[in-house]
Amino acid sequence: MNVNQQAHMTSPYRQPQPALQGYAQPGYGGPPTQYAPYNGPNPGYQQGPTPAGYSPYSSLPCKTFPATLASDLSSNSSSPLDLGPVRPPPNSGPPPVSASQGYSQYTQGDVQNGPPTMSSQPHRPPVSQSYLPGSQPAYHQQYGAPHTSMQQMTNQMSGMQVSAPPPAVSGYAPHSSNPQTSVSFSGAPSFTPHSVSSQQNSPAASLTHGQPPSQSPFPGSPSLSQSPFPGAPPPVSQPQYSSAPPASSQPHYSGAHPLPASQAQFPGAPPPPSQSSPFHAPPSSFAPPAGAPRQPGVQPMQAPPHSQYLTGPPLPHQPMQGPPLSQQNHAAPGMQGPPAQPAGQGQGVQPQQNGAFGQMSRPQPGYGGSYPGPQNYGAQPPPPAAPPQKRLDPDSIPSPIQVIEDDQANRSSEPFATGVRGQAPPLVTTNFQVKDQGNASPSYIRCTAYNFPCTSDMAKQSQVPLAAVIKPLATLPLDEAPPYIVDHGETGPIRCNRCKAYMCPFMQFIEGGRRFQCGFCSCVTEVPPHYFQHLDHTGKRVDCYDRPELSMGTCEFTATVDYCKNNKIPQPPAFIFLIDVSYNAVKSGLVDLICAEMKTLLDYLPRESSEADSCIRVGFVTYNKVLHFYNVKSSLAQPQMMVVSDVADMFVPLLDGFLVNVNESRAVINSLLDQIPEMFADTRETETVFAPVIQAGLEALKAADCAGKLFIFHSSLPIAEAPGKLKNREDKKLVGTDKEKTLFQPQTSFFGNLAKECVAQGCCVDLFLFPNQYVDVATLGVVPSQTGGSVYKYTYFQVPSDGDRFLNDLRRDVQKQVGFDAVMRVRTSTGIRATDFFGDFYMSNTTDVELAGLDCDKAVTVEFRHDDKLSEESGALMQCAVLYTSCSGQRRLRVHNLSVNCCTQLADLYRNCDTDTLINFFAKYAYRSILNSPTKTVRDTLINQSAQILSCYRKNCASPSSAGQLILPECMKLLPVYLNCVLKSDILQPGADISLDDRAYLRQLVTSMDVAESHVFFYPRLLPLQKLDVEGDSLPTAVRASEERLSKGGLYLLENGLHLFLWVGANVQQELLQSVFNTPSFGQIDPSMTNLPVLDNPYSRRLRAIIESFRAERPRYMKLMVVKQDDKLELIFKHFLVEDKSASGGASYVDFLCHMHKEIRQLLS
Ligand SMILES: [Zn+2]
Repeated sequence: MNVNQQAHMTSPYRQPQPALQGYAQPGYGGPPTQYAPYNGPNPGYQQGPTPAGYSPYSSLPCKTFPATLASDLSSNSSSPLDLGPVRPPPNSGPPPVSASQGYSQYTQGDVQNGPPTMSSQPHRPPVSQSYLPGSQPAYHQQYGAPHTSMQQMTNQMSGMQVSAPPPAVSGYAPHSSNPQTSVSFSGAPSFTPHSVSSQQNSPAASLTHGQPPSQSPFPGSPSLSQSPFPGAPPPVSQPQYSSAPPASSQPHYSGAHPLPASQAQFPGAPPPPSQSSPFHAPPSSFAPPAGAPRQPGVQPMQAPPHSQYLTGPPLPHQPMQGPPLSQQNHAAPGMQGPPAQPAGQGQGVQPQQNGAFGQMSRPQPGYGGSYPGPQNYGAQPPPPAAPPQKRLDPDSIPSPIQVIEDDQANRSSEPFATGVRGQAPPLVTTNFQVKDQGNASPSYIRCTAYNFPCTSDMAKQSQVPLAAVIKPLATLPLDEAPPYIVDHGETGPIRCNRCKAYMCPFMQFIEGGRRFQCGFCSCVTEVPPHYFQHLDHTGKRVDCYDRPELSMGTCEFTATVDYCKNNKIPQPPAFIFLIDVSYNAVKSGLVDLICAEMKTLLDYLPRESSEADSCIRVGFVTYNKVLHFYNVKSSLAQPQMMVVSDVADMFVPLLDGFLVNVNESRAVINSLLDQIPEMFADTRETETVFAPVIQAGLEALKAADCAGKLFIFHSSLPIAEAPGKLKNREDKKLVGTDKEKTLFQPQTSFFGNLAKECVAQGCCVDLFLFPNQYVDVATLGVVPSQTGGSVYKYTYFQVPSDGDRFLNDLRRDVQKQVGFDAVMRVRTSTGIRATDFFGDFYMSNTTDVELAGLDCDKAVTVEFRHDDKLSEESGALMQCAVLYTSCSGQRRLRVHNLSVNCCTQLADLYRNCDTDTLINFFAKYAYRSILNSPTKTVRDTLINQSAQILSCYRKNCASPSSAGQLILPECMKLLPVYLNCVLKSDILQPGADISLDDRAYLRQLVTSMDVAESHVFFYPRLLPLQKLDVEGDSLPTAVRASEERLSKGGLYLLENGLHLFLWVGANVQQELLQSVFNTPSFGQIDPSMTNLPVLDNPYSRRLRAIIESFRAERPRYMKLMVVKQDDKLELIFKHFLVEDKSASGGASYVDFLCHMHKEIRQLLS
């Protein structure tokens, strides 16, 4: 049986070739014979030749086209397509049989279809059976997937640390073996930020630390009065948590690290100069510093060496001699000891700051011998200069790099098989292969939790959001097959009669295969005769593994005409390019660049892999205060321009010849692209319109009766007289006030209404902005965001420095796979319901997510809430169905299915969460909330909810331990550091240097990000390049995003998905500089370069390859910025060192962790 299953699993579906665009294509490859009937597109969908003209209007190429055309043609903007009702209200009664099916009919069915008469009804296993860990041994045997049996979980949670032996992977305790993380705060009361800040504001403290008073980023503190970025000193970790000034002066840069706690043991003695240097090594050398031996017993609160982040008394059950359980480097010497130096002293890179260190190194009152332990702590007379506080050693708190590395080490070697319900996938940062065995790949869906609480009370208690991030058209890795295309014939996909869920592995066939019971609503539906198949002795259809829809988590159905708008097979979509030719756009070289690029780019329009040419038609418009339409009909010798100056009531002055096939009209198009730059070379027009531009594209699509995408290249605030005219409302004084939210709201409702019209037509708008000043992204971005489009922004665009980035973005944007006129619906099993949606789309009701366009990069985050109890036995099921029109005009249904476990114990919930997905949800939630609430309120809400999540764990799941310990669930131990990154992001806590447009832009970007993107956006990747493996293709281990981790002699690459920096230390060896920059001198490196010189040496080749691989990995092209240490650009770079205190007042990781701990303690007390 197992063997058979495996054979089935592997053989029938190997045929799909990764399509060019990583996207399902009709007729790809040669299907195995048994699969053939389900693979071909419905003949009804064969695309005929492009209809000749647009019949009634084809002979009207005049500029006096009646303005009423729009209304004549708008009749087809009717209601969105029916995807069927959502799951009806929960029904606790017996599964209903659909009304039309009397039992007598089944007898009839027997006769007609001829299935063998069953003398008795076969045993029907529960719907969920095939996903219960125990029932599919094949998966475990094959992949050894670490399923999470209840027993195991219970063991782990009750015994906490004991049950699992540490794997021999590294010296680090793998998270699976130690389900919690704790950090001791024995001096916790002193972490109160308020009291601290006031103390800190004393002149003495300021003097000592040589910096202005730190701002507390927390509620109640004056967090927004911080001095502006440029004038402020580089971020320094908040000194308020140090109990005393640092013990010694450090050689400048090497002083970046807090001193290890061993200093506490030798109070008064100056630390050896070498003490801090071991920290400088790249992260792989998280080894305990040589000069900082942990000496148990010196401090009463000393952590046993095995504890990960634990400084308090050992937890019960914790092995005292756990060998590699101990993350030695993370053992917490620093936390017992008196405080080490504030991390920010890495600022010592500037020589003049040595003096500051000298001041700070004066002997501390009460320092020597004054640290017997917390008992005496309060008894100490407070030192005059600094309050007696502790700070944490950054090495002792959970490290994102360590978690990422451990997961990569432990989970990348074997494919992740999706057959086990409720199994959390590897982290989004881990490279792993996926085998679809009945649940959708994590490339398509990731959940915040894989054990949903059974009851809403439990969910409320934990406060863990139950959400999924869904990326319906995600591009899969090249070694994974795109979804199969299934054709159920003329009657369309087989669906549940009641909730309309699509045929999927959660449907249970019964009565010999004549009917199936829906896993979502339990309704029983008759199997249509053409779909009948016998069941085997386990109750499975014998063709189960020959049918993707029955055995795989993701598949795609061809849709019938019933699924088409107005019951009409769609036309192939069109792309319309609308180019701003006002003065700024021409002068910057943009118009030239676009026209030159377009000639080649048009050869790469999206197409089905079976097609030689793309079906997509193209059209061209230029504009400033007026619009110019172009007739590029193939029969013309030259393109013709038609000017529409009445922008108040936009219409399209021509139909025939506006949207054309590229190949047919190539000569005319090329001629046009040559002429446009010349025509506007001497323009004096500086004003632009914007809304009429969208209206023009929309009207053109309406006239052609097709969906499509507008590519708008726009440079300025549209102040010319026209609908949607905007005024400059940039007012930075509103930042931090209750009116800040208005900055994110559009200044007129006009664009919201326009977006609605666009969605109805399937008109997706991509906006490329090239502003030299405020353009009101919050308003201009409304239509792109509600139509599933994208916004790109190139501030102060210059061809030499930004041309590459723009062209790469444009190429990718034009070529990427996109579905049009899409409607997405998420169905769930009884007990939960999709209640909230985050992303770039439009919703006209509470269930249908409408996307004029949906591309492969867009993700939608969905939140679920209970409306009834869930059962452990059946779990929770979700099905995301997206109906869309492909680039060739085929109507398709992409269906993703996912089942998760349900639990009655909180400990089980906390065992199986995905923090990266949680952060994606929190960020989107927060970024939407700022439209209605002050940013401070939003930040407080996030902190509060996270504190509740963590305190609930502490209260209900963690072993008893002293209140001074912060105990985090293993799978959420990075929640504080990542949450802090969200809180201090430019959107929620802006620095003075960020523009309102940038904030609106970033807000919109994050809204449609998937988990991988949001992860690197909030916690950038920082790679040390000193020891580059120039032969192999392995990457160096990343280091934590903190200035402390930078070595003056090093070279580092930092990326966050939007920006890419190469940081060059002032002491980098000449050889290295020569290899990379072709100059031996640090001073001669040109910081304005945006690409490295192409040099013929192994190091240069490898480094450039890494840069290219980073760029290829992200949806947007990252321009390289070279940052020299101490150069003024370094301030921008430091903004991304997110573990440090930020110039805008955002807390350092260490400080934030202390704050979270305080919040948690308050909730517990
Ligand atoms: Zn149903």
